[in-house]
Amino acid sequence: MAHTLLAFHAHPDDEALLTAGTMARAAAQGHRVILVVATDGNEGLASGSFAADGRLGERRMDELRESARALGVARVEHLGYADSGLGPATMPDPPGQTRFVRADTNAAAGRLANLLLEESVDVLLTYDANGGYGHRDHLQAHRVATRAAELAHTPRVLQATVPRDTICRAIALVGKVYRFPAAFDPATFQRAFSPKAAITHRVNVIRFAPAKRASMRAHASQASAEGGADRTLAAFLRIPRPLYDVVFGREWFVDPAHPPGAPVARDVFAGLP
Ligand SMILES: [Zn+2]
Repeated sequence: MAHTLLAFHAHPDDEALLTAGTMARAAAQGHRVILVVATDGNEGLASGSFAADGRLGERRMDELRESARALGVARVEHLGYADSGLGPATMPDPPGQTRFVRADTNAAAGRLANLLLEESVDVLLTYDANGGYGHRDHLQAHRVATRAAELAHTPRVLQATVPRDTICRAIALVGKVYRFPAAFDPATFQRAFSPKAAITHRVNVIRFAPAKRASMRAHASQASAEGGADRTLAAFLRIPRPLYDVVFGREWFVDPAHPPGAPVARDVFAGLP
C-alpha cells in the first residue's frame, strides 16, 4: 500500500541532514513524498557573494528543488514565512512577510494542515521538542507541525532527531581517523537532540547514502566559512565516502504515540492501515 509522507522543515538544507535518507527510501518504495519549508532561508549564513544581491532566498529555494529531485520528492512547497535568523535578537519583519518565529502558531498550523488534508498525508516528519540543535525556527516548526497534525488528524507524527549519545560516540570514532575542519563543532550534538532511549524509529538508509549526499551537495554552494548548519553540511561533505556511510546510514525519529516498551520500529510506515 502506497502512503504519503510529508517532511516539514524550517529552512532549505534542513531536510538534507535529518530526513533525506528516509525521504529517498520512501520515494524508492513508491510512496508519495512531499517537502515543505516554512521559510526560504533568506537569513542563512552564506558567503558574501551569495548574500550581497538580496536574492539568497531565491537561490536557496532553487537548491531545495535540486535536493528534492535527488531524493525523488514529488512536490515542494514554501509556507511563505521569513527566516528568523540566528542572532540574539530577531530582526524586524521584512516588507510583506512575517518572520516564522513571530507567526501565529494556529495560523501557520492552518496553512500546513491544509496541505496535510489536501494530500491525505499519513506520516508527518518534524523536529523534536528541542528543535534539534535549538534554532528558534526549528522550535517553532515543532510547535506548528504538532498543532497542524492535530487539526488535520494526521495518523502519525515523527520527530526527526539523532540519538545524541550514539552520535557523540560515532563522531569520536571518526575523529580518530579523520580530522574534522576546525569550524565543525561536535559539541552541537552533546547539547541537543534526543537521548537514545527516546528513539522509537530507526531507519536504515545506507542504500540511500548517495542520494542523501547529493541532497547535501545541492545546498553546499551556500556553504560558507562562517557558522551554522551550512558549515556543518560542508564539513560532512568532506568526510570520505566509507565513513560517511557509517555515520549517515541511519536516521532516527521519536513518535510520541509509540506504545511504551514496544520495540524500535524500522520503517516509518510500519503498522499503518
Ligand atoms: Zn534550519
